[in-house]
Amino acid sequence: MAPPRVRIAPSPTGFFHVGTGRTALFNWLFARHHGGAFILRIEDTDTERNREEWVQGIVTALEWLGMTPDEGPYRQSERTERYHFALDTLWDAGQLYACDCTRDAVLERTKSSSTPGYDGYCRDRGLARAGNALRFRTPDEGETVVEDLVRGIVTFRHETMEDFVVARSNGEPLFVLANCVDDRDMQITHVIRGEELLPSAPKGILIWRALDAAGEGGAGWGQRTPLPGWAHLPNLVNEQRKKLSKRRDAVAVELYRDQGYLPEALRNYLALLGWSPPGGEEKVSVETMIAAFALEDVNHSPAFFDVKKLAHMNGEYIRELSAAAFVERVRPWTEPAAVRAAGGWVPQSATPTPWPPERFDAATFERLAPLVQERVAVLGEAPGMVDFVFLAEPAIDEASWEKAIERDEGAVALLRAALHEYRDCDWRAEAIREVTVAVGEAAGRKLAKAQAPVRVAVTGRTVGPPLFESLEVLGRTVVLQRIEAAIARAGGGGT
Ligand code: GLU
Repeated sequence: MAPPRVRIAPSPTGFFHVGTGRTALFNWLFARHHGGAFILRIEDTDTERNREEWVQGIVTALEWLGMTPDEGPYRQSERTERYHFALDTLWDAGQLYACDCTRDAVLERTKSSSTPGYDGYCRDRGLARAGNALRFRTPDEGETVVEDLVRGIVTFRHETMEDFVVARSNGEPLFVLANCVDDRDMQITHVIRGEELLPSAPKGILIWRALDAAGEGGAGWGQRTPLPGWAHLPNLVNEQRKKLSKRRDAVAVELYRDQGYLPEALRNYLALLGWSPPGGEEKVSVETMIAAFALEDVNHSPAFFDVKKLAHMNGEYIRELSAAAFVERVRPWTEPAAVRAAGGWVPQSATPTPWPPERFDAATFERLAPLVQERVAVLGEAPGMVDFVFLAEPAIDEASWEKAIERDEGAVALLRAALHEYRDCDWRAEAIREVTVAVGEAAGRKLAKAQAPVRVAVTGRTVGPPLFESLEVLGRTVVLQRIEAAIARAGGGGT
């Protein structure tokens, strides 16, 4: 097969949706597998809903996911003349007719009819083109067949297809026309997109064939051109098996980036939404995906977008980073001001950091980083795990305090004993641990019960990175101060 040409054709009306990410990925994998071209086309004909910042968002999200287009972005707003030319050609060929029906009038006439949609009222009224909507005259008999690589043969009987609108009364060409003209002009070989667009495929085919038959040739019409292949990808659904919605679900790729998902993890996860890498492995390299990807293997049942599974996979990817790479990649969250000053990207959620930026110490963080790397599912969790190191005083979580200190009668006595031992024990994690075990034993406590009050006193919370390593990094002086402060807070008086 000649190198394929595929495209994604998003409309810039909002954040880059994970569903668009999945569609982009399947197009990109297909192009890479076959050595073809992956094209970005911005379908911005709806001037009221489109915004330039969303176009930028699309470009940035694709780059971030490692799927920079080979061509584009092309913009439909720059190709208006071409659509008008197509409309002229189809009009001259008698494929279109003008219609002045209002929506209400159509509804009124068709309310008791068994065939849905427009009733062809204006077909033979011979209305002038100017100032009216233009409809495409669909054949009355026969059928249009969509040979879909995912869904098989899908047949649309013409008697069920209405004469659809291709241009508004103000002359503006509609999506279905612009989409078809672009796919022809850009020599798209495969249209790979969401299944909600399946019903527009037969309309596109009818326009395509009408352009084949119309005009003089030379301008791209008037000659038989091969139709693209079709692949309509399954919907993404949420836990309740409902289609992912912008309002209900977290669907913006930007949001995942902001929380600290790694692009390679998100891309791997998106590949599983309708496709399975060979051998049952789910976590696979991008090279494996490219080598194995085939549209014929895409499943047509709805794909569950499982955020928990995505988070788990992201954690696995984080664990695989080298220690140095982890420190580097978490910097937008730990040192956003410095990263921004150097022109780098920072997540909105990272500013401000839990600590005053000047209290951050990169060397100290590097010592703690391996402990953090073992525990986070997303990079954005990192600051909350080490905030106690960079804050002058730990931020006490009241629930943790109540559980580990207030409602634990022996907690203050235990803190006093720990304080005593910590003053002159060897200040290395293993030694601090041994001392704490001994303090616990003397109080009849297992280690977990002994370290809970210490952890809350020093870090403010019951959960966090391994305690003794954290104490070592924090340093004896600070640890002693914090335990004293906790004793005082608990009403335990002086030491
Ligand atoms: N512009 C359409 C959309 O945003 C996509 C059209 C296509 O992929 O053919 O849904």
